[in-house]
Amino acid sequence: ILEIASLSKRFGENTVFSDVSLRVHQGEVCSIIGPSGAGKSTFLRCINLLEQPDSGNMWIAGQYIEAGRRISGSDMVQLRRNVGMVFQTFNLFPNMSVLENIVFPEQKVLARSAADSKEVAMDLLNKVGLANRANARPTQLSGGQQQRVAIARALALEPKIMLFDEPTSALDPEVGLDILNVMQDVASSGMTMLVVTHEMRFAREIGDHLVVMAEGSILEEGNPDAVMSNPQQERTKRFLKAVI
Ligand code: ATP
Ligand code: MG
Repeated sequence: ILEIASLSKRFGENTVFSDVSLRVHQGEVCSIIGPSGAGKSTFLRCINLLEQPDSGNMWIAGQYIEAGRRISGSDMVQLRRNVGMVFQTFNLFPNMSVLENIVFPEQKVLARSAADSKEVAMDLLNKVGLANRANARPTQLSGGQQQRVAIARALALEPKIMLFDEPTSALDPEVGLDILNVMQDVASSGMTMLVVTHEMRFAREIGDHLVVMAEGSILEEGNPDAVMSNPQQERTKRFLKAVI
């Protein structure tokens, strides 16, 4: 469902990653781990074109994207429908209520009617246990609650792939666990997920595939258990020692 070939990205002189190729199958949960500055966030941001990759190409849920080629407005809308993203810092619209945060993109991206948008939003808020906070502002919610809303907002667009960039690292461990449980539910629903995380237990227990990234390349990848218990690269060994 996701195939990335030789993708590269630099900012000026600084090459963030180069020649990264990755395949994620339908329904798979792929975790990406690696040290700070490895280029993990930039890689995710290139996949949904929040950043423009410099070279390489990608197939994303049936859509072909070639780096360097200008992407049309309608292709961009298509991509935004197909790929949902959840950030470390939640990124909710601060001037909107919880309900409006979810309804607004539904109407904007999917042109869903007001009534349908609200129905979908309330259903998802129920699922993440926040139906009773629908009219609150994001600032009135805890971090964990805000992240639940952010996940509900992304799911409301019925994406084919969900990207998560360290969704729990701004949260207390206990609250983070809550979010990981929500993500596990999303994974069990069959969603294809690409998750940058420092949560080794999530990567091991929920993840189907593990990618280790450092200094702008994929060092190794494979079955999470296999990579964690028997890493092949010195750099991976050092990283795993530091985080486990
Ligand atoms: P972390 O684990 O700390 O989140 P990361 O693996 O997500 O790290 P990135 O945020 O992708 O790493 O950053 C990789 C490199 O790209 C860093 O050297 C960073 O300074 C650089 N970089 C990221 N975004 C930009 C930008 N908008 N402009 C210039 N350089 C950037
Ligand atoms: Mg990052």
